[in-house]
Amino acid sequence: MLLIYCLHGDEIITEKIAKQLNKKYGINILLGNPEARNKQIRFSESDLNRSFNKRGTQESQRAKELKQILSKRNEDIIIDLHTTTAKMPPIGIITNLKQLKLASRLGVENLILMNDRFSTGGSLIENIPNSISLEIYPDKKSIKDAKRMILNSRNPEMKLKSFNIYEIISSVKIESVEKDITNLQELNDGHYPVFYGEKAYKDIAYLKARKKVITLQINQKKKKIIYLSGIKNKNNQIKLYLI
Ligand SMILES: [Zn+2]
Repeated sequence: MLLIYCLHGDEIITEKIAKQLNKKYGINILLGNPEARNKQIRFSESDLNRSFNKRGTQESQRAKELKQILSKRNEDIIIDLHTTTAKMPPIGIITNLKQLKLASRLGVENLILMNDRFSTGGSLIENIPNSISLEIYPDKKSIKDAKRMILNSRNPEMKLKSFNIYEIISSVKIESVEKDITNLQELNDGHYPVFYGEKAYKDIAYLKARKKVITLQINQKKKKIIYLSGIKNKNNQIKLYLI
């Protein structure tokens, strides 16, 4: 198990959390973007979390290095830690339903699914096996909850079977928002807002998501997930995904 912190160099609280857990529990940690961390900026030349499929920037070079380091380590779970200015409980980010295994291990029940349209191909979780991102709003309770999740994940046992999946369908521009919005609370049109209040999103007020509750079927004998149900495909048909 490995914890990556400061993939975005200005998310200093992830460093604090990582170093505390390292000191107290011996959890393995790795600094994501040393250069940007030193300058306390999000990135130098390109967002590292969009640079795993890029070339020619400082961050694309670091992404290459990280790939090499992590392929040698062969970790069974890698948690990529982030902070957000959007008030939400700790929330996992996945791009693939296979990552539900990792979410179950962490015990994080709220997950954002960045589907093909919203993932860039350049994020860490799309390029590093067994990885999941965890977004933390840095208040006391969320930090405590996130630490508990990280400690949970040391044990490979799957702790959660049911998840709220927020599948991103669109982004909403700042000018079209009139009143305050609460993340993860149903909007009038039946969709759900996530990342409302995120300062890193320049002209976007929030991302709009479709909510699905998904339940894993776990084969207890073999201790593996045999299938899950509940996600609809583009034609609105329920699909079973083999994991
Ligand atoms: Zn971040």
